[in-house]
Amino acid sequence: ERLDIATPKRTKEIINKYGFSFKKSLGQNFLIDSNILNKIVEAAELTPENGALEIGPGIGALTERLAQEAGAVTAVEIDRRLIPILKEVLEPYPHAKVRHDDVLKVDLHQLFREDFSEVEKVSVVANLPYYVTTPIVMKLLEERLPLDNIVVMIQKEVAQRMAAPPGGKDYGSLSIAVQYYCVPELICIVPKTVFIPQPNVESAVIRLKLRDRPAVEVEDEAYFFELMQSCFVQRRKTIANNLRSRYFEGGDRTQLEQLLAEAGIEPSRRGETLSLQEYATLSSVFLKAGI
Ligand code: SAM
Repeated sequence: ERLDIATPKRTKEIINKYGFSFKKSLGQNFLIDSNILNKIVEAAELTPENGALEIGPGIGALTERLAQEAGAVTAVEIDRRLIPILKEVLEPYPHAKVRHDDVLKVDLHQLFREDFSEVEKVSVVANLPYYVTTPIVMKLLEERLPLDNIVVMIQKEVAQRMAAPPGGKDYGSLSIAVQYYCVPELICIVPKTVFIPQPNVESAVIRLKLRDRPAVEVEDEAYFFELMQSCFVQRRKTIANNLRSRYFEGGDRTQLEQLLAEAGIEPSRRGETLSLQEYATLSSVFLKAGI
């Protein structure tokens, strides 16, 4: 019986065998703890009818586990040096495919057509490279891929921001963007000690369950997101001040007050206290007024 890749012994064996050296610039912190791996895989609720897309497989610790649970697995890895290693460690799993690519550049709809046409649902499961977590998650969501859920290990603070409810310091444009598309759930906090090399920050596993339709109805998504983001440009300022800087520079104070009243929002509130529904209402009122 072979040891899991996600153990210090087997990981070191593989690294030594291939003379692999970690690249910090690619966010290479490999998982060496089977318990954490189990938590990630369980949270994705995979079955043989499901597909799993992994981003950044490293030396295949998580990929191996996904291949044991899911009917089709595709792992996208940017580092060419890892491809022959992955080919070898994944040899026992013919339904696990490795693609050498940058996930931010790859056409994911095409990838889904090619690799996941036979499965019912697809999950993204990954221990993400921390330097590009937000662009990767936003790409997955904005491209409206037919995903069931996304289970990712990311920096703890970023996970807390994604899952934050209105009213606290963690709530901001990332919370709203993620919660527009998903229902987030923090699965567990993960210490630095379960990686080699150890990262500088603590991590967390978060599950994002995709909604059937967005949390709120908006006429113009781009407008909604832009207006919402403008309310966080200066976090300490009131919503009226932020909106004035963005939409009423040097202009009509009374119109802004009227529009906020129409939306039922006190001008003295801060961006971090508004719910998604309030941002949706506000953007609809602004749009109707031709702002
Ligand atoms: N899944 C492995 C594990 O858990 O041990 C490795 C995780 S490591 C945190 C992140 C991985 O993502 C590295 O293998 C790195 O080379 C890869 N990576 C970094 N940027 C990437 C990108 N833009 N596209 C695809 N993979 C990337």
